[in-house]
Amino acid sequence: MTATIDITGLEGAGVNLTPEQIAGLDARIEGHVLRAGDGGWDDAVQLWNGMVARVPALVVQPISAADVVTAVGFARDLGLLLGIKGGGHNIAGTGIADRGLTLDMSRMRDVTVDPEARLVHVGPGCLLSDVDRATQEHGLATPLGFVSQVGVAGLTLGGGLGYLTRRFGWTVDNLEQVEIVTADGEIRTANRDEHADLFWALRGAGANLGVVTRFTFRLHDVGPMVHGGLIAWPFARAGEILQAYRNITAEAPRELAVWLMLFRAPPAPFVPEEWHGRRLVAMAVCYSGDLAGTAAVLAPIRAIEDPVVDLLAEQPYTEVQSYLDDTEPKGNHYYWKTEYLAGLDDELLSVMRDLYAECPIPEADIGVLHLGGALNEHDNDDDGVVGNRDARFAIGIKGMWEAGEPDADAYREWIRQAWTRIRPFSTGGNYINFQTADEDDERIRQTYGANFDRLVEVKAAYDPDNLFRVNRNIGGDRRA
Ligand SMILES: Cc1cc2nc3c(=O)[nH]c(=O)nc-3n(C[C@H](O)[C@H](O)[C@H](O)COP(=O)(O)OP(=O)(O)OC[C@H]3O[C@@H](n4cnc5c(N)ncnc54)[C@H](O)[C@@H]3O)c2cc1C
Repeated sequence: MTATIDITGLEGAGVNLTPEQIAGLDARIEGHVLRAGDGGWDDAVQLWNGMVARVPALVVQPISAADVVTAVGFARDLGLLLGIKGGGHNIAGTGIADRGLTLDMSRMRDVTVDPEARLVHVGPGCLLSDVDRATQEHGLATPLGFVSQVGVAGLTLGGGLGYLTRRFGWTVDNLEQVEIVTADGEIRTANRDEHADLFWALRGAGANLGVVTRFTFRLHDVGPMVHGGLIAWPFARAGEILQAYRNITAEAPRELAVWLMLFRAPPAPFVPEEWHGRRLVAMAVCYSGDLAGTAAVLAPIRAIEDPVVDLLAEQPYTEVQSYLDDTEPKGNHYYWKTEYLAGLDDELLSVMRDLYAECPIPEADIGVLHLGGALNEHDNDDDGVVGNRDARFAIGIKGMWEAGEPDADAYREWIRQAWTRIRPFSTGGNYINFQTADEDDERIRQTYGANFDRLVEVKAAYDPDNLFRVNRNIGGDRRA
């Protein structure tokens, strides 16, 4: 490493890193220090959302908590803008500090299952599939999301939701402990007894508080076989299907989660050719209860006649956790708006139908995530800053297009306008992990609602200088 590097400082001004400083860092890091052009650089800096143009000036790939301590100390002492990349899937691109120093956690990807204690210990570079695969070998799982390439770290630290949320709550409701490097360079253990205030804040606002180097989750009996898949009908029948969806979700046992999607059929072999590219209403299903009862549980879905796609089948839980992966490929441009809902009233259902009928974006979908159940049973205050215990559904309007799309601005604007039509139905809260880069401080405050002030106090105690600001930051104007 022979040249100096211009790197962005915490307050925005440039800092000049000398070759000696970089070599000094390199000598103390057991993992890797990368600059542009080095082998592995492209993977280290790639984000899921190709619309985000952030590139770091320097990357550290730690392999241990000690490496993280070194890198955090280096950034803090030199006043460098510091980012942490888990799975790189945050839509706002918060995994990368633009022209700053980024910790790419991908070399800390170990998973250890303790089936007797029903716990799993997870490295911060793990993707969801790493954890699901390992825990399913024991017929166990913790609630994670439904696209297997998402990072466990970012998903968990913002709350975490998935097909098992109705049974076991937010992902963070199942978090037992973390190991975290805080801004002062200490490696701390946080759980319900040790640093309980920090642990409370980590469960929903974790990216603000340090670098988590290990997660420990509680496990439950799930699978390894579940009944799930996708079933879809023509969009022309949206009125009927949406009503049926409301009834199905109102009666569903907790073991059944049914996501709803208005989308265009992909040109995939499982879709009859005459439906390729045409609008459909689909349900993505996961029933993780006693399989002997499947027929009765799925009867209300099966009662909706003449689906044009029917992929519902008994299959491994790990398959259900990954079959939507291809619908969201890495590197495309993405934009969405989302809200939490307490229910599905008639007016909302007709707004959804109208919006999708009017939507000018070729690859767009409107989705409803089926929540409720266990997550509605916790206290807002005591069980993590994540709150939003009144959410029974989440709704999202998403568009996807390729780089260079001439109508990109118009598409984004259409989604923003569509959002104004679903906002009146919101609980008033929203999911921090779904916020786009253009959402403001008020939106962050709304995420945490009544928990916000307590969160700010914990942030001030553990990160008084807002070192951890490359995230959906609660530090006001001192953020990147
Ligand atoms: C296709 C797709 C599907 C999704 N599905 C779901 C879903 O089913 N359920 C759900 O709940 N969410 C889902 N999400 C949202 C997802 O939870 C967020 O995008 C989340 O931020 C992704 O985490 P990541 O580690 O991949 O992201 P990154 O972009 O790497 O990081 C996100 C944030 O986490 C911080 N961070 C990362 N690692 C650490 C660490 N070790 N310590 C401290 N902070 C850290 C970063 O600083 C950054 O601010 C989905 C997103 C996408 C794009």
